[in-house]
Amino acid sequence: MSAPTLVRQEAGTGAGLPVVVAGAGSRGLAAAEALLDAGVDVVVVEAADTVGGLARSVQLWGLPHSLSSPGLAVAAAPPVVAQWLDLSGGHVERTRARHALAARGHRPRVPRRSTEVLSPVAGTGALWAELARRLRARGALVLTGTTATGLHVQDGGLAAVRVQDASGSRLLACRGVVDALPTHRRLLPPGSVAVASSRDAHLVHLLVEAPDGAVVGPRAHDVTAAAPEPRVRRLTSARAWRPRTLASTRGAVLRAELAAPGDELAAMDDAALRRLVLSELPALGVPGPVRVLDDVVLRLPASLPLTAEEAGGAPLPGLVRVEDGPVAGAGDGLPAARAAVQRLAVPVR
Ligand SMILES: Cc1cc2nc3c(=O)[nH]c(=O)nc-3n(C[C@H](O)[C@H](O)[C@H](O)COP(=O)(O)OP(=O)(O)OC[C@H]3O[C@@H](n4cnc5c(N)ncnc54)[C@H](O)[C@@H]3O)c2cc1C
Repeated sequence: MSAPTLVRQEAGTGAGLPVVVAGAGSRGLAAAEALLDAGVDVVVVEAADTVGGLARSVQLWGLPHSLSSPGLAVAAAPPVVAQWLDLSGGHVERTRARHALAARGHRPRVPRRSTEVLSPVAGTGALWAELARRLRARGALVLTGTTATGLHVQDGGLAAVRVQDASGSRLLACRGVVDALPTHRRLLPPGSVAVASSRDAHLVHLLVEAPDGAVVGPRAHDVTAAAPEPRVRRLTSARAWRPRTLASTRGAVLRAELAAPGDELAAMDDAALRRLVLSELPALGVPGPVRVLDDVVLRLPASLPLTAEEAGGAPLPGLVRVEDGPVAGAGDGLPAARAAVQRLAVPVR
């Protein structure tokens, strides 16, 4: 095998080389922005064709639906709220979010007190697309369809990131790497705010008949299953989150987030997943029978962590991982990313 060629080789200190951010989810994009603010050149590599990661949105039945939480609590960190408003151009719906907890076989308990939330009318994905556009305008390279496959180490230091795109495999020389890959994936478990899990996520979207724009199910934005047995851990009502945007659609969209031990869900086909969700709806406060007009099943694969070539397990100078502890909203990744990047904002090598 021939020796690797560095795409932009500048021997010595690494000055002049960019910092590579792996992953263009909310945290990766926030990290890239923090680096630009610090005057550092940035290359973002994103495996998917679009930015946004788990916080992107998908078009379902002609309207954008956010994969993760569709809204942000107004009580979240003020800089995060300000950024959501700025990136959305102020096009948000404000609702009073009511999260309910449903013990199996019991009526979901919807708390009286509710917090105000902001949901971007164009879906959360539009925020990250706009942030990527602004980063590019400031000189960052944001490469979609480009997968980071490894870290190249030279003389005990990080020298390059190996990437794979349609044209093949190559090394991107860099002076540091911010790892913003989803080594932990969160789905809400019974009774808690967030949990780290590296398993695949399974989402079942149901378009159900809802005459006169009614909200189907309990009068809550989402219901979390309190007992561990149900496979549907959280049921979200899109119309409760965004009543004005979705009012005119022909049905209501319910999103079920599923979780199960082992590979049980991966082994089920889409029809079986849909039947499972329908069987568990009554325990989550949706009185049957509901008439399902259409459904879309999404499987979000957990990805593998980035591995260092030749690192031998030792801490690698120049590598920063964006910590992703429990957060109250996907947007809270922004300050987390900024804090991590401060460690890289000085010349690394
Ligand atoms: C259904 C659902 C509901 C959720 N609800 C909540 C909630 O209520 N509250 C909350 O706080 N969080 C919630 N989350 C989690 C939240 O969306 C994530 O924590 C947040 O979006 C993660 O952002 P991130 O940038 O860390 O990672 P991701 O969004 O996962 O971004 C990582 C990016 O890296 C890319 N990538 C992966 N591998 C590679 C590679 N090798 N090379 C290059 N790019 C790569 C991926 O394509 C992706 O774009 C939910 C998630 C889901 C799916």
